[in-house]
Amino acid sequence: MRAVTLLEQAGNPVAGNEVVEAPAKSLLNRVDGMPFAWSINCYRGCFHQCVFCYARRTHAYLNIDGVTDWGSKIHVKTNAPSVLRAELAKRSWRHETVAIGTVTDPYQPLEGRYKLTRGVLEALRDYHTPAALITRSPLVVRDIDVLQQLARVAGVSVSVSIATLDEALAREIEPTVAPPRQRLRAVRMLAEAGITVHVALAPILPLITDSPENIAAVVRAAREAGASKVWHNTLYLHEVTRDAFFGYLRERRPELLAEYASLYRGKYAPAHVASGVDRRVREALRSSPRPHVAPIQTRAPAQISFFDER
Ligand code: SF4
Repeated sequence: MRAVTLLEQAGNPVAGNEVVEAPAKSLLNRVDGMPFAWSINCYRGCFHQCVFCYARRTHAYLNIDGVTDWGSKIHVKTNAPSVLRAELAKRSWRHETVAIGTVTDPYQPLEGRYKLTRGVLEALRDYHTPAALITRSPLVVRDIDVLQQLARVAGVSVSVSIATLDEALAREIEPTVAPPRQRLRAVRMLAEAGITVHVALAPILPLITDSPENIAAVVRAAREAGASKVWHNTLYLHEVTRDAFFGYLRERRPELLAEYASLYRGKYAPAHVASGVDRRVREALRSSPRPHVAPIQTRAPAQISFFDER
């Protein structure tokens, strides 16, 4: 393992953060209880530092604090594409759908430097393996060429996460993610390139982003940009994310602390809150026109979403 501290440089978005280059022994991770059989994550930790990130607990596996260091201490699996190629070359590989980016953003700023997600997509293309990818970053459009090739030989879908169109609010809850309008532009570019693209309206935060107006605005914009599907989920708070999220509330939304403490006695929002969110999303979908999309025809379409699907 090699620790690299990225130095202050003009235009370097990850300046000052600690990056650990840690080659992986394996890349494909078997998943149970989800609509996909395998997942791949080329990074551990995520520079985007969303206050609601459910993946923060994975830093505990590295003995790193998922609240304070989730976005500043990032491990990079520098050999990810070559390890994956060895795994895909096995005779036992059954070409099941692989989810990319389940516990980190595959297009966080470090991807600009390491190009591991691109290498992974190229490997999946060469071994005719379908994929479903999720990101909050417009950097995904850099790889439209490989995504098109993968779509033709195996199938691919891309989910772009957008929680709100309110730029100030987005900056508050997803501090270093590109503004929502840039993500919508990425959705449009992917759709126009024939890539199956979804928008993940996720997570929806009770009392913060769950208004009918916010939900309707994201759904309408997603459809207008060409998303063939909009899916959502409501905030989930296990222990590490709970600490991070309540820290955010204390700092930025103290007026909501008591209500959140009452709503989130456990990990999930109460049923009446989640069902209210579901209803508002359904209504927004009903009143938004479906886009005309003509995705690239695939041999084995990868039409999955993370969590619940619309
Ligand atoms: S972009 Fe995704 S993985 Fe990264 S901090 Fe935000 S929610 Fe977590």
